[in-house]
Amino acid sequence: MDALQPNSAAPALRSHDAVIVGAGFGGLYMLHRLRGLGLSARVFEQGSGVGGTWYWNRYPGARCDVESMQYSYGFSEDLQQDWQWSERYAPQPEILRYANHVADRFDLRRDIQFDTGVTAARFDDASGTWSVSTSDGAETAARYLILATGCLSNARIPDFPGLDDFAGKTYHTGHWPHRTIDFTGQRVGVIGTGSSAIQSIPIIAEQAAHLFVFQRTANFSVPAHNAAISTDYAASWKSDYAARRRRAREETRNGILTVVPDKSAMEDTAEGRRAAYEAGWARGGISFMSSYNDLLLNKEANDTACDFVRGKIAEIVRDPAVARLLQPNDHPIGSKRICVDTDYYATFNRPNVTLVNVRAEPIERILPNGLRAGAKEYALDAIVFATGFDAMTGSVAKIDIHGRDGRTLNQKWVEGPRCHLGLMSAGFPNLFIITGPGSPSVLSNMIVSIEQHVDWITDCIAHMRARGLDRIEPTVAAEDDWVAHVNEVAHRTLYPQANSWYMGANIPGKPRIFMPYIGGVPAYRQICAEIAANDYAGFSLSSARQATPA
Ligand code: NAP
Repeated sequence: MDALQPNSAAPALRSHDAVIVGAGFGGLYMLHRLRGLGLSARVFEQGSGVGGTWYWNRYPGARCDVESMQYSYGFSEDLQQDWQWSERYAPQPEILRYANHVADRFDLRRDIQFDTGVTAARFDDASGTWSVSTSDGAETAARYLILATGCLSNARIPDFPGLDDFAGKTYHTGHWPHRTIDFTGQRVGVIGTGSSAIQSIPIIAEQAAHLFVFQRTANFSVPAHNAAISTDYAASWKSDYAARRRRAREETRNGILTVVPDKSAMEDTAEGRRAAYEAGWARGGISFMSSYNDLLLNKEANDTACDFVRGKIAEIVRDPAVARLLQPNDHPIGSKRICVDTDYYATFNRPNVTLVNVRAEPIERILPNGLRAGAKEYALDAIVFATGFDAMTGSVAKIDIHGRDGRTLNQKWVEGPRCHLGLMSAGFPNLFIITGPGSPSVLSNMIVSIEQHVDWITDCIAHMRARGLDRIEPTVAAEDDWVAHVNEVAHRTLYPQANSWYMGANIPGKPRIFMPYIGGVPAYRQICAEIAANDYAGFSLSSARQATPA
């Protein structure tokens, strides 16, 4: 389709083959691939730049806890050979530079409209197109609507009474200002102890006159042991990058190359386990969870890893009462996203850091000069909300999406998200969700899963165009089967035992459904590939001239 030019003062009516929402890693690669098919695509991005997660999450200490050599695109051999990562775990500014490099290298910016949110989308059954409303007041018609809105992009501040009365500065880790914030000399409160808090607390503690950490639930964290990447290490990756990427995609559960012993923790002796966990702790990072093959399947095995980390906390933190409070005791290790830190537990040995147990005494009110938790008031100059996101569905739900029969996606998902393969939802033709609920997404290396979804969507659209088809949606039966399968597999593991954002448990009133697919990246890829090879079994494909699928 060609863009239609506005002919008067009326709002611009634009038309493209595809609208992509979001210019993070998903949206950028999607645009690149659609261009390769010769399609016209428009990306709307609410930020002023590319990078998605890495555009917004600029809090002190933000870095990725998947190793840089793996947390990067594999689709271009030239790109992966040229780009030089400086650290084992890339800091946020470096990942953002990488996203910008990709946007420039593949000349993507000319099709991205920044500072523009997508507010609504309506499917017109007669024409088989989406009408997409944006925050600039314009409408865009598109055959395909592709949500690359990210899984952790709807930052959330709990509804604390008195929030607007606070006289100091407030920040959310997922909405950090685009300038350096220096807390020197200030009394700072950090609310939350998830991954974002655990990365930022040690740095804020070095600056602040006093730091209060308001903890509701203690989290398991393992050391990052971040370091510069040696030339030899980078060269070893680059010598067979394509093969390593393939193995990560096809042979690892989470799209990250790690050696996982084919052994249960319970098959080992106590000394053997101690040695394995010490090795994992010394290696650092999330591969600690790969010390044995059953840590997320067997509670008894998991308990041994929990005990080890609780022991480490007791060794590091000098005050036994503070150590006890930092020792997680209400969920299996890994059932909430394991955190990766640099000096997190040791930070609580500093005289200017106080851990406050807001499980025992919840935050009741934000005051003009601080906050009240239980009977106690804490005077604060600044509050950092490290309180997380309305994960996986939050950024989709913000868009008022009306499907084929006028029903909204929010109405359909009122009891939890329903998607086939985490890619499409019945009743919403030609709407694709990159790393949507029901796909491995947040349980995997996100870039591996993004590339797989983008490739699948691209192949699907190419298949349709080759056959003169222009409409696809999953059948209700296939979707129901997939949702049941996602649930069934999740309940074979320890994951549902935690009140995690995977379960929607961090948002009051959100349905408790385990949202990502836990069956592993290779199995999932195979299922997607087989469905495509089998003429998109479980999907109805038609042309606009044919009847609407049932
Ligand atoms: P999060 O894991 O959801 O943590 C939010 C924290 O805020 C939790 O400790 C939560 O306590 C607390 N909280 C929420 N509402 C509260 C309230 N009313 N009172 C007191 N405490 C409250 O969010 P996040 O740390 O931003 O991390 C989200 C995800 O992003 C991670 O799990 C990870 O997948 C990703 N991430 C990755 C990296 C990395 O790659 N290194 C870094 C940052 C984030 P409860 O646990 O009690 O609810």
